[in-house]
This record gives sequence, C-alpha cells and structure tokens, in this order.
Amino acid sequence: MHFQIVTLNLPFYTVETLKSRLEWVINLRWLAVFGILASVPIGQEMLSFELGYSQILIVASVLLAVNLVHFFLLHFATFKSQLQELLFAEVMVIMDLILISCLVHYAGGVENPFYFFYIIVVILCGFLFPGVLIPYVNAVFAALLLTGWTLLEFTGRVTRFSLADDTLSTAHVLTALIAFYIMTFAGIYIIHNFVESHRALKKIIDRKNEQLEESMRQRAEIFRYASHELKSPITTIQSTLAVVKTTYSNDLTPEVRDMVERAERRSCELLDMVNEMIEITKYKQGIKVHDYQCVSFCSWLKQTVEAQKSYAVRKNIRLEVSALDREITICFDRTEMEKVVMNLVSNALRYTPEGGRVSVEPFLDGAQYGFCVADTGIGIAEADQDKIFNEFYRTPEAKKMERTGTGLGLNLVREIVEKHGGRIRLNSAPGKGSRFTVTLSLQMKR
Ligand code: ADP
Repeated sequence: MHFQIVTLNLPFYTVETLKSRLEWVINLRWLAVFGILASVPIGQEMLSFELGYSQILIVASVLLAVNLVHFFLLHFATFKSQLQELLFAEVMVIMDLILISCLVHYAGGVENPFYFFYIIVVILCGFLFPGVLIPYVNAVFAALLLTGWTLLEFTGRVTRFSLADDTLSTAHVLTALIAFYIMTFAGIYIIHNFVESHRALKKIIDRKNEQLEESMRQRAEIFRYASHELKSPITTIQSTLAVVKTTYSNDLTPEVRDMVERAERRSCELLDMVNEMIEITKYKQGIKVHDYQCVSFCSWLKQTVEAQKSYAVRKNIRLEVSALDREITICFDRTEMEKVVMNLVSNALRYTPEGGRVSVEPFLDGAQYGFCVADTGIGIAEADQDKIFNEFYRTPEAKKMERTGTGLGLNLVREIVEKHGGRIRLNSAPGKGSRFTVTLSLQMKR
C-alpha cells in the first residue's frame, strides 16, 4: 500500500501504524473465532447451559469469513486515500459490533457477562480513529444494539436464551444496561484523554527530534565549511615554506632551516587533520561515494598491515599478522577499509612502548568476519572507552606518550565500519593493552 504523508490530527502517528493496528484487530478476531469454537462444547457438555449453540457457530463462521475478506483486503488492496483506510476500519468495527450483538443474544443477552465484549471494540475505536466523534458514535451504536436486543428479548419478540433459566426482572435489565452505558462512555473518555496526552507527548518528541537533527546538520555543515576553508591557507603555507627552503637554501642558517622544517611538519599534521575532518563530514552528511571491490581477505589484510612494518621496526615492536585456515573473498570499499586497518594498527604502534607487541588476527564466524588489532600498550581506562570514538578526544595518557594526534582517527574508523554495516568493539585495561575488534557481515548491504 502506498500512503501520502498525513497531516490529519490522528491518534496514530503514521498510516502504517493504523495498518499495523488493523492487522492486530484481525489477529484478535482469529483468536475470537478460536475462543468461540472452543467454548461451545464447554458450555454444551460441561456447563449444560441451554443456549443457541448452532446459531453461535453460524456467527463464528460469519466472523471467520468476514475476517478472511478483511485480511485479504488489508494485505492486497490498494487504498487510494487515507479516508478509504479509515472507512475500512469503520466497516470492520460495525461488523464486529453486529456480530458481537448476535453472539451475546444467543449466549444469554445481558445476563451473560461476556456482553462486555462490546466495550473492547469501543475501546479499540478510541485508539483507531482520529478525534472523539467516531469512537462516541460507535459507542452509541453499541449501546443501541445491546438495548435493542434486550428490549426484544424482554418483550418476548425474540427467543430469549437464558443462562439461569428464570425470568428477567426489569431491575436486573436496567442495572445491566446502566452499568454497560457507564462502562462504555467512561472507557471512551479515559481512552480519549490517554490518546490525547500520548499524542501531545509524541508531538513534543518529534519537534525535539527535528531540532536535534537540524543542529546536527548545522554542526556537520560548520565542520565541513571550516575544514574546506582551512585547507587552502595550509597548502599555501606549505608551498611558501617549500619555496623558502629551495630558493633560499644557501642563505638559511641551520637554526632557520630547522624552524622552517618544523613549520613544514606541523603544517603537514594540520593538513592531515583537515583532510580527516573533510572525510568524516562526508560520512556524516551521507555524501561519501563508495567504490566496492572484492579482495582476498587475508592477503589484503597482511599487505595493509605490513605497510607499517618499518615504523614497527623503528620502534622495536613485534608486529604480527595471522591468517585464516582458508582464504575468503570479500567485497567492500577497499580504500576505506584500508583506512580502518591503518588507523587501528598505527594507533596500536603509537600507544605501545618500545619492545611491545602488536598483533592483527582475522576471524570468520558463520556469516560474520572481521579482524582484531591487539597491543600490549598503555591501554585505555574504562571511563574513556566510549569517549575515544568522539571527535577530537584524546586520553591524558595518550597525550603524554604521543604529543601529536588529532583525535579524529577512531571517529572516522567507526563511521566507515558502521557504513559497511559492521561494528567496532574495544576491550582494554590501563597498562595492559587494548584490543579493537571490527566485525562485518559477509552479506553486506550496499
Ligand atoms: P589520535 O590517535 O590521533 O589521537 P584517534 O582518534 O585515532 O586519534 O584515537 C583517539 C584516542 O584513543 C587516542 O588519542 C588515544 O587516547 C586512544 N587510543 C586509540 N587507540 C589506542 C590504543 N591502541 N591504545 C591506547 N589508546 C588508544
């Protein structure tokens, strides 16, 4: 079914919600048919009531047939407007009330406490329909049906099926009917109030949600703007420094040359950071274009990790990559996933003291695969473990160990992994090392 966005003042949030409620009503009816069929032999054999059992079975069959029609209409018909959908719901309610009225009549009328089934339907109306008018109209219709059948039974115009085998007193009939009216209208009133406050609350949540989304969008926009604006002055600084170094190479004193080189290094770091900011923004704004490729997973992983071998050797850290028992072919955005591996391995190497060990282990577990990057480094305190995935966050211990760092790498890693439908987990203890696990699905949705 295709629906337009609704602007009507509805107690349900979307028409899809209405559809799911109607499905729910249809399921309730299957249950009702089953309940009737099960209770007929119980009433007949065990309780020995003299009721209209054959008529009750006919009503159950009609309910079954009506429900089948409604089931197919709901699932296969195309409603052209929301009004049609509501009309469909109203027809369902009227049918239910009529069938319940017949059922109650053949099962003992107002004498049978099951006449409160009417109230269930009326209360359902309070949830199903917009405003208060239609539920009240249905409540009046229910009251008329019960009153009508009761008058016909009381005046002897129709056969009365009695549970107690005695005559009905006027007082009994009046009490039962008045109790019914009070229950029905009080029920509608309570439901209406409940639905109204529920709807008001939902409106507030929706508005807050929109505000939140808007501020997230603005934040990403500022982030994107700032990073783009920063990029060109940094590249200008870099090219100016390069010109100074080459053109005036003979005139520069060693101190000045050292300063120029330091400025060059720092501007390179700044440019890396700006590039990472631009990447993250592309993910956050959903404008990142992916280039999916299929690779042999273990050899790809080994090759990617080994790009950092020289840094590991320089730092005297043992860098190991294991492999799976058998090679698997997987498809993903290779360049992006390389960023994930590079970031995690470079962090592991940077935050592990000399003489330590970093290992990268691929795994395959049913429909999931991935890899772990484990180190014997400084570790991360429990309180910091969520924060390190936020932009610009660096732990105090990490700052002490490595002066430079943007605090953007893990944020980008998480964006890339989640974009691939995966997740990243961390196990770590201060002073004992860290273990990052990236899990992805073999059936990745693009
Ligand atoms: P950067 O490393 O540039 O600071 P990241 O976003 O890559 O930025 O990492 C954020 C922070 O997470 C790091 O500053 C560090 O505090 C912590 N961190 C990441 N990886 C490790 C690790 N393997 N061991 C200890 N701390 C880590």
